[in-house]
Amino acid sequence: MSRPLPRATSEPAVTTPKRGGDRRREPGDPGATGDSGGYDTSQRAEVLSLVEGLILGAIVYLAAAGVVFRFLPDAHPLVLIVVHGLTVFVGTGSLTYFFVLEPRRRDLVQHHRQLARQRDQLLVETGRRDFAARLNRALDMSDDEPAVMRMLERALGRLLPGAPAEVLLPAPGKTALAVVAETPAPGEGPRCPVAGGECCPALREATTLVFESADELDACQYLAGRAGAGVAAVCVPVNVTGHATGVIHALVPEGGEAELDPVVLEDLRLVARTVGTRITMLRVFAETRQQASTDPLTGLLNRRSFEHELRREMRQDRPFALVMADLDHFKKINDSFGHDVGDRALRVFAEVLLSSLRPDDVICRYGGEEFVIVLPGNNEEEATRALERVRIHLAGLINRADLPHFTCSFGVAEWNPGLSGDEVLVRADLALLAAKHRGRDRIVRASELSGVEIGRPGPALVPRFEIPDPDQDPGNEEAPAVEAG
Ligand code: GH3
Ligand code: MG
Ligand code: MG
Repeated sequence: MSRPLPRATSEPAVTTPKRGGDRRREPGDPGATGDSGGYDTSQRAEVLSLVEGLILGAIVYLAAAGVVFRFLPDAHPLVLIVVHGLTVFVGTGSLTYFFVLEPRRRDLVQHHRQLARQRDQLLVETGRRDFAARLNRALDMSDDEPAVMRMLERALGRLLPGAPAEVLLPAPGKTALAVVAETPAPGEGPRCPVAGGECCPALREATTLVFESADELDACQYLAGRAGAGVAAVCVPVNVTGHATGVIHALVPEGGEAELDPVVLEDLRLVARTVGTRITMLRVFAETRQQASTDPLTGLLNRRSFEHELRREMRQDRPFALVMADLDHFKKINDSFGHDVGDRALRVFAEVLLSSLRPDDVICRYGGEEFVIVLPGNNEEEATRALERVRIHLAGLINRADLPHFTCSFGVAEWNPGLSGDEVLVRADLALLAAKHRGRDRIVRASELSGVEIGRPGPALVPRFEIPDPDQDPGNEEAPAVEAG
């Protein structure tokens, strides 16, 4: 038996209802036109109908009179009246029924059908508006992407009850598609194996694709090899920052009641549009926040966000080590090799810090070639061991990166509850100054400083201020003034 030509359409081919009766459409119904149907209810039409009836009556009466005069010329007047009457009644009645009443009945039926269609259309519209309003409210309450995805899972569960559906979206700045939402439950999504947007036909064409059967010749290759027989699929692109970046992908049984309803398909598109807009907004916000809190050259935290992190760490009420680091004779690198090489050296140093320290250590470019690090839970000794790792990695990476040799001096101090942020910064800075004075390229702990070294004025790093807390003093958000030592 021959199959119909395979189709991968951008519009649904089947209109089987899926949701509550109030949002159904009949198969083959045309869209609502907004006209009032073929039924004319004006007074003029009523008069015309009456005239039509009278004309028909006159014609029938004349015909009956002709017949009576022709065949019963001598009949009794009473008989004539009865025959006339019956003929007129039957003739006029039949003609009126066929030529006036029946067409009007048909008009009425059609009119009622159109009214029913318009009512259905209105119910669908009302349902969609209600759904869109709920969707927007839910998204307004979703402050991050995971929250958006949990909401999306609920929405997909409502639109496609029981059908496996998932959302594939790359992480910001990445191209690989990853499953970020799935329904009916985690691990029960359709599991599309497509790797990246460039491999997904719906994303390449930036359009909704309905695959009526995984068996068809033109079924998506990722569907054909996976879903097996009797399965249809829909893929709706999700636009993030102006590009078709992610995709909502759902499987539905091929044919029968569960097949994709155009109303549901339209709702899926609505969901994709709304969610795409929200994710775009969240990503733009996150990027702006990221730009405001990081140093553009190294990608490390900037000084302002470091102060925030330091306050947060102090609120934990557990000891930590604070390190001040300053690249040695960095001016010479700039002078001898140029600023580009100097910039590259700064980036390499940041890379070394990131790769040598733990992810929860707070690493910041404090300014110029100066860095500050908080190692939560560390004492001076543990921090010193971590910094030794940094020094070894730095030497190795400098060689590999083909950079001129440079070193770094470190000052380590320990914070304990009761100490202010300013005090621990001054202690670390004094230790750093001692490291410079002792010959650079070394680590000095604040606890080992001699009285002479402590008496020395601090270098440019030491801030002469109490770190402001914007939570308590929102007006004091300016970057702190730094005084040369
Ligand atoms: P010391 O060992 O005493 O720290 O000597 P130093 O030369 O490192 O210290 P100094 O404070 O004299 O010079 C710091 C240099 O760091 C001067 C400045 O040009 C350079 N510098 C600061 N920020 C940047 C930057 O973003 N890129 C580059 N290439 N150089 C920078
Ligand atoms: Mg310096
Ligand atoms: Mg320096």
